[in-house]
Amino acid sequence: MRQPLVIANWKLNGDLELAKAFAERWSSLASKVAICPPAVFLSDCKRLFPHLVLGAQNCSAEQSGAFTGELSADMLASAGADYVLIGHSERRALFHESDALVARKVEAAQNAGVIPVLCVGETLEQRQAGAEASVIIAQLEAGLAQADLSRLVIAYEPVWAIGTGETASPDQAQEIHALIRGWLKQRNASLAESIQLLYGGSVKPANAGELFEQQDIDGGLIGGASLDVEQFEAICKAVQDK
Ligand code: PEP
Repeated sequence: MRQPLVIANWKLNGDLELAKAFAERWSSLASKVAICPPAVFLSDCKRLFPHLVLGAQNCSAEQSGAFTGELSADMLASAGADYVLIGHSERRALFHESDALVARKVEAAQNAGVIPVLCVGETLEQRQAGAEASVIIAQLEAGLAQADLSRLVIAYEPVWAIGTGETASPDQAQEIHALIRGWLKQRNASLAESIQLLYGGSVKPANAGELFEQQDIDGGLIGGASLDVEQFEAICKAVQDK
């Protein structure tokens, strides 16, 4: 039986006031929730609101050294992160992160005891060409080449649905989630049943219920709607009703 999980990705937004609003509503967010604020707020969030479950939005593949501006997974863990998003489409597109780098980050996170949330998803052009399944499988094969499948979350986020207001239909989302679960089953049939698979891409209170109803969708990775605690609470309620 998989526990539902909803992760808030604040991106380059939010502050301690927003964290406080989440902390005050935490008990009504019922399902298992983690928030990923900008990394600079992690330690303060942990100190001021110790009951929050926290994640980072990125980590370095390196442990230490001359990598100006980077934060290692160990540093993020010591600042309070239990999860880290890896391979988000914005990192892949805007910061040119390759599958090989994503794989190294997954490994670095697991070595530091932080659970990687591997993000995969196809672009609009790839979907229009009917290539979504092969793109997702290639991202899984590469990104999880060295991974320990027992400490992992996977988020399917079609690039065309992120921040656009367009959402995959429940059938489209379930089809890819089933594909991912099937791929995991070929590697480890029992672990595949316990790995949480999240959907991300313009999830709102109005569409969350029908997405989370799907058999292989265990929760969501929420961007825009996670900046409004009431909307986020409504999304969490939808997953709780699953
Ligand atoms: C995201 O950034 O991971 C995301 C899903 O964003 P949004 O919910 O705004 O589409």
